[in-house]
Amino acid sequence: MALTVNMPRLKKDLEELGRIGRDEQGGVNRPSFSPADFEARAWLRKKIEEACLCYRQDGAGNQFGRAERSGRTVMAGSHIDTVPNGGMFDGAAGVVAALEAVRRILEEKIPLARPLEVASFTDEEGNLVGDFLGSRAFMGLLDEGEIRNGKTSFGIPFRDVLKRTEFTAEGILDAHKQRPDLEAYLELHIEQGPVLEDEGVPIGIVEKIAGKHYRQCAFIGESGHAGTTPLELRRDAFLGLADLALKATQYVAVNHYGSMLTIGKAALHPGSFSVIPGRADFTLEFRSALPETLAAIEKDVFALAEDIASTRGLAFVSRLVDKTAPVIIAPRIVSLMEEECRALGYPSMRLTSGAGHDAQILAAGCDVGMIFIPSLDGISHSPGERIHWDDLEKGANLLLRTLVRLAT
Ligand SMILES: [Zn+2]
Repeated sequence: MALTVNMPRLKKDLEELGRIGRDEQGGVNRPSFSPADFEARAWLRKKIEEACLCYRQDGAGNQFGRAERSGRTVMAGSHIDTVPNGGMFDGAAGVVAALEAVRRILEEKIPLARPLEVASFTDEEGNLVGDFLGSRAFMGLLDEGEIRNGKTSFGIPFRDVLKRTEFTAEGILDAHKQRPDLEAYLELHIEQGPVLEDEGVPIGIVEKIAGKHYRQCAFIGESGHAGTTPLELRRDAFLGLADLALKATQYVAVNHYGSMLTIGKAALHPGSFSVIPGRADFTLEFRSALPETLAAIEKDVFALAEDIASTRGLAFVSRLVDKTAPVIIAPRIVSLMEEECRALGYPSMRLTSGAGHDAQILAAGCDVGMIFIPSLDGISHSPGERIHWDDLEKGANLLLRTLVRLAT
């Protein structure tokens, strides 16, 4: 019989984990280093130890369960933190599926040529300081200033959060020194978009992960009386923003199909009925799977903003907040997964991931692969996050078979 996961056990584990940090709206509220997160960490540690894997936690709080062999490590995992009022599948599905896959490999006594390791990375969701704290720490890609002086998304200094935990800035910055040599890293994740469900395909094999730029921008003009300043004499910062929002979106839609541009947050100052906005602060986020497209969008949208500013008598300012590079998934892993899908009789399709994942950070040090399963109605980061369990079973079986191929 084909090697497959024990689906009732996988489902039971994921439901158990999904009850930790459950809020009144039925969502999961489990940001890293919250009391619920520490409860989930203890749960995962117990599961890893029950599976007779060697448990360890590094200085950044990343948790691992290892089946020791010699050679380079084949790793699989994701994250168990959530956004506030998030869902029970984002991240957790990948950690529990990886644990189940490794358990089955050990139960069947499959001879391993390489160490196998289950991983759960701290704060993938970026509730603390920037996205991917744990995986960046694991790869030695952290910004020291951010760790020592950064503020969390809840408005408190990160070092104050650390004081309430067993973790330290030094431990986080040194976490990468404990990293084993990696052969490959695999991650199963919900798609967080509508494509697989629309296409009626249970498995997405990711071939690219989009990179992104986050910028904080502003148009600066001049405030004035809304009743007495003639329209032609105004330097209205909001009109600059409105103009840029439409033109920049149209520019990306026409010139870079498949790339994204979003202005997700805006604030007008002074912000009153009868005052012309003298300043418009806004976030500008764009994503693409191609580095040259990211560079082109940056250059062209800035030129557009400067042009709008000069036409409207405004100044345009912008500051880079964060950026991640696009990742091309190793072709050998994509073809391995496609082969295994054919052997299992599962329809699959290749996808670009528009969302960021720990896998893209680990790609700096090894080949990575990602398996997507459909998110019902494309919903994630919400209590409404749902999946079909048989899609998860298929995804976990594919993860299991790919791990066997890489580790034997
Ligand atoms: Zn996630």
